[in-house]
Amino acid sequence: MNPKIIDGKRIATELLDNLRNEVTSFRKQYHRKPGLAVILVGNNAASSIYVKNKISQTMQIGMESFEHHLKEQTSEIELLTLINTLNNSEKIDGILVQLPLPAHIDAKKVLLAINPAKDVDGFHPYNAGQLATGGEGLTPCTPLGCMILAKSIIGNLTGVEAVIVGRSNIVGKPLAQLLTAANATVTLAHSGTQDLQSVCRRAELLFVAVGQPKMVQGSWIKPGAVVIDVGINRLFDLETQKHALVGDVDFDAALPIAKAITPVPGGVGPMTIACLLQNTLLSANRRENQVV
Ligand code: NDP
Repeated sequence: MNPKIIDGKRIATELLDNLRNEVTSFRKQYHRKPGLAVILVGNNAASSIYVKNKISQTMQIGMESFEHHLKEQTSEIELLTLINTLNNSEKIDGILVQLPLPAHIDAKKVLLAINPAKDVDGFHPYNAGQLATGGEGLTPCTPLGCMILAKSIIGNLTGVEAVIVGRSNIVGKPLAQLLTAANATVTLAHSGTQDLQSVCRRAELLFVAVGQPKMVQGSWIKPGAVVIDVGINRLFDLETQKHALVGDVDFDAALPIAKAITPVPGGVGPMTIACLLQNTLLSANRRENQVV
């Protein structure tokens, strides 16, 4: 692989190998497996693939997976009742509700119902508040993975000029908090940002999470910048006549200019799952030690 390409798969595998050892110690000490419950409502094709992947990796590192595949017509109250049962289950350390949910279910209400101590996605407002105020909580997985990838190239982020494009609650905002805590100088850009290209060109460390295929072009990148592409977009490739995944950055154009860049797939995606399992183990340890 081109040495400029940040191998998220390899870094995630290393993290999972460490987690597998820690899970083994946990099982010896507490005579149980850390448990992750995954709830999928309906049959969204992409969500089904993500959930399958999460379940298989959960089991591969020695944790217990509890899958709840509910039918599309499941009512909000049925889902809330299930979450309440999982909140009270001794065997469950983490609860993940795969998004998006069907339109008749209020996702905000569902995420609020999860016990913050088991909110391994880190989406509950309690955990968002803990992150924002430097407290102990559970941090969203994709931003955690982005930080590991950035540090694998730059090391200490103190004083680094970082730009994030995209301010969602699940990626951009928590990432801004993590970078700020790591002493980077952070700009959080969005659809209202003026002259986005110049803002991106300032970045020594550029994160892109917008959901717009290949939006960030080579000319937007400062020579020598580290580029972390969070985007996952499914595009039809005329050449191969197949669907392919592409990021939010024009990878081929950015590669010669950047110091290092994540590929899509194989960059941030594998890190997200590894960090989810890291959060599950963290939650299990906190519960055993009554830190929550
Ligand atoms: P959202 O749609 O929730 O947020 C997108 C953000 O991008 C918004 O803040 C929006 O601005 C901003 N934006 C959109 N278009 C532009 C534009 N033209 N110029 C500047 N800013 C723009 O997306 P998510 O954060 O959920 O996801 C972003 C991408 O990351 C998607 O491709 C998603 O699939 C991927 N993703 C990947 C994950 C992984 O594991 N690798 C995990 C999560 C997401 P505004 O707020 O002003 O509307």
